[in-house]
Amino acid sequence: MTKGIIVKGISGFYYVKTADGTFQCRARGIFKKDGITPLVGDHVLITIQDEEEGVVEEIAKRRNVFVRPPIANIDAFVCVISVKDPAPNKEILDRFLFTAETGGAEALILINKADLPGIEVFRKELDRIYGSLYPTVFVSARTGANLDQAQTLMQGKTVAFAGPSGVGKSSLINRMIPGACLETGGLSGKTRRGRHTTRHVEILQTDFDARIFDTPGYTSFDGVMPEEGRPDRYFPDLVPFLGMCRFDNCRHLDEPDCAVKSAAAEGRIAASRYES
Ligand code: GDP
Ligand code: ZN
Repeated sequence: MTKGIIVKGISGFYYVKTADGTFQCRARGIFKKDGITPLVGDHVLITIQDEEEGVVEEIAKRRNVFVRPPIANIDAFVCVISVKDPAPNKEILDRFLFTAETGGAEALILINKADLPGIEVFRKELDRIYGSLYPTVFVSARTGANLDQAQTLMQGKTVAFAGPSGVGKSSLINRMIPGACLETGGLSGKTRRGRHTTRHVEILQTDFDARIFDTPGYTSFDGVMPEEGRPDRYFPDLVPFLGMCRFDNCRHLDEPDCAVKSAAAEGRIAASRYES
């Protein structure tokens, strides 16, 4: 059998990229019987039937799986916000970082549109809050500034770009993959999402040893939930303080002797992160 990765799925056909080329595959009947649907991103074993066709025989255990977009095995989330137009939305950024953490994926932050004037305030603030938590790079899809640094962080990984509409996800991907030709700007978030949900998600290959899920039309990723009810351990900046509250089941809201709340009051946890 031959190892590969599902890079595209269209009406019951799975396109599996292997070292010997890409094969159009059907899935073995057994998957359907077991209620398993192969997903874009799945690592699979196939038997090759001829030059173009094969059969998906086995699906490897998934690192994570999402319902919307329907994909599996995101190694890293590239969380994108912009310094301006739209202004940085820390709440949304924190939500994507949380999704990455709960999904057992890495996260990196790209702060786009760094070419726009008057951004120093944001730069300082975002650096202070996120610089020590996640790799954080100020980039510009327009000028190409610092994209090499971003690409180095993506190397060897299958990544998904996540971020609000209009921050420049499509523009960044187009800049990183000259042939990608993703639509940018002009359309409302709603229209674009419609376009992307009816279209099929694909994995795009870069020439810098990274793969990118073509998901810029999705402004949220649904599917992974923490297996226990406590979200605090998925905030790396809260982790040092966990277990130090008076109550084991502290919600860090209005309980007395809350280490997290004290840390936030002292500025050791950023106020916006505490709110998130
Ligand atoms: P998406 O919704 O996140 O995929 O964002 P798009 O890639 O469609 O970009 C939204 C708008 O921002 C478009 O008009 C782009 O031309 C513009 N844009 C994207 N990147 C940059 C950048 O680095 N600098 C500036 N000034 N504008 C950008
Ligand atoms: Zn507490």
